[in-house]
Amino acid sequence: MAFKWSAVLTRSRHNLLNHLCQQYIGTSGAAKNGDFADIVISGGGMVGAAMACALANNSCLQDKRIILLEAGKDTGEFVVPDQFSNRTCALNPATVRLLSSFGSWQEIEGMRCFSALRMQVWESCADSMITFNNSDMSEPLAYIVENDVILAAIMRALKNVKNQVEIRYETNATAFNLPGRGDSEEAKMPYVKLNLNDGSVLKTKLLIGADGTNSAVRKASGFHTINRHYDQSAVVATLMLGEGLSNTTAWQRFLPTGPIALLPISDTMSSLVWSTTKEHAKNLQELSPESFVDAVNDALWHEREKNEIAGKLLDGFKNVLNNIVPADSDGVRQLPPTVIDVVDKSRASFPLALTHASQYVRPRVALIGDAAHRIHPLAGQGVNLGFSDVACLNDMLTKAVSSGADPGALTHLLQYETERQRQNVPVMLTIDGLQRLYGTEFTPVVVARSLGLHAVHSLPFLKKFIMERASV
Ligand SMILES: Cc1cc2nc3c(=O)[nH]c(=O)nc-3n(C[C@H](O)[C@H](O)[C@H](O)COP(=O)(O)OP(=O)(O)OC[C@H]3O[C@@H](n4cnc5c(N)ncnc54)[C@H](O)[C@@H]3O)c2cc1C
Repeated sequence: MAFKWSAVLTRSRHNLLNHLCQQYIGTSGAAKNGDFADIVISGGGMVGAAMACALANNSCLQDKRIILLEAGKDTGEFVVPDQFSNRTCALNPATVRLLSSFGSWQEIEGMRCFSALRMQVWESCADSMITFNNSDMSEPLAYIVENDVILAAIMRALKNVKNQVEIRYETNATAFNLPGRGDSEEAKMPYVKLNLNDGSVLKTKLLIGADGTNSAVRKASGFHTINRHYDQSAVVATLMLGEGLSNTTAWQRFLPTGPIALLPISDTMSSLVWSTTKEHAKNLQELSPESFVDAVNDALWHEREKNEIAGKLLDGFKNVLNNIVPADSDGVRQLPPTVIDVVDKSRASFPLALTHASQYVRPRVALIGDAAHRIHPLAGQGVNLGFSDVACLNDMLTKAVSSGADPGALTHLLQYETERQRQNVPVMLTIDGLQRLYGTEFTPVVVARSLGLHAVHSLPFLKKFIMERASV
């Protein structure tokens, strides 16, 4: 292979590396053999954009060329609209730490977010309930932020980084050549080759799939997935509340058809996430605004027929526990707010399913976010898990590159997979278990869950353990 030192010496370190890779990867120039990037992220949603931002701020990767491919259009400079978006996420402290590390949290605070200081969860079949709050209510349990604001804040921080990531909108791969897959010569090469929809070719040492639940990267990699269709949809909407009291509680009531949750987004407004059967979700969307508001209030307030056996056993259990552990004044049941209106055109619904890729990595490929795992929104953990993937993969790439290894080397990617599956799988199983547990009115199950919920509510160490697990 012809190698011209004179041409190379004038290049920056960045270009030198690219040139070396081009020389190694192809011999007849970029047009024919394709452009080269050290790392390509496919998917610029909240998780893919956060990955790009974390890598751009990683001093060990300053010389690396990073490209972010996003199939959607560039929506331009984001201006916070007066009207709240109907898509929100409850962000936990670990996410706030990650976003703060590259300046996105500060951007969010400058735009719009709201604190949830307390959470109350109860059910319609029995009188059990649980509350969560930090003892002095000084630190929020979670921040409720619109998805558009989260993404815009990450993109703003990304544009402020010196080591700019190249963002290509309306771009996606139409074909993937992955090392180790197939018998072609390219399958033996130390890179991933992507054919893009604009007709160009892009080669990379590491392809990160952040392209959501229908991930093309996951499908091309041939990863086996575990799927469960809940036969449910989540109806979202922006609600206006009646009371003038402070709106700092996140409410969730389990109904036999699924949980209804209200997340505070302002002093007088909350974001609704109501998981229910597909038919009911369709009906809810078709109701007049007045009837929809009635249906929401009914779901939050209406006293349904309680399970008598569970009620009696729960009363006995409460007496026993009260003699051992004194009742906690913070844990008193509060009444949910009354909804007075729904913001025009804010209703929408999303099908719910569980998807988990048995593997997150293969040589030169790693999955993050919903591309690797999609969960039921009942615990508000989906994007938080995705952001934790970002933090972990960034750490692993730091270790790989600082030890002189290639960013796509399988050894470090496997460490990422092990560490993330160790955290994600128990969370997914717990959430799926809760969905099943509260999806039945079968007496033994109602008794077990009522006693279990009350035990956790009454035992501070158990509650603290759960809160700590949900915030990492
Ligand atoms: C009703 C509801 C409520 C929720 N509430 C919460 C909550 O409170 N807290 C929480 O943590 N999570 C919550 N979630 C989950 C959260 O919304 C998801 O986990 C999160 O959106 C996943 O982000 P992502 O970036 O991985 O994927 P996505 O948001 O799906 O982004 C994928 C991106 O990739 C792009 N793309 C797709 N295909 C390609 C391709 N081939 N090439 C290039 N780009 C591509 C897409 O355009 C998109 O921009 C909720 C989910 C639902 C449905």
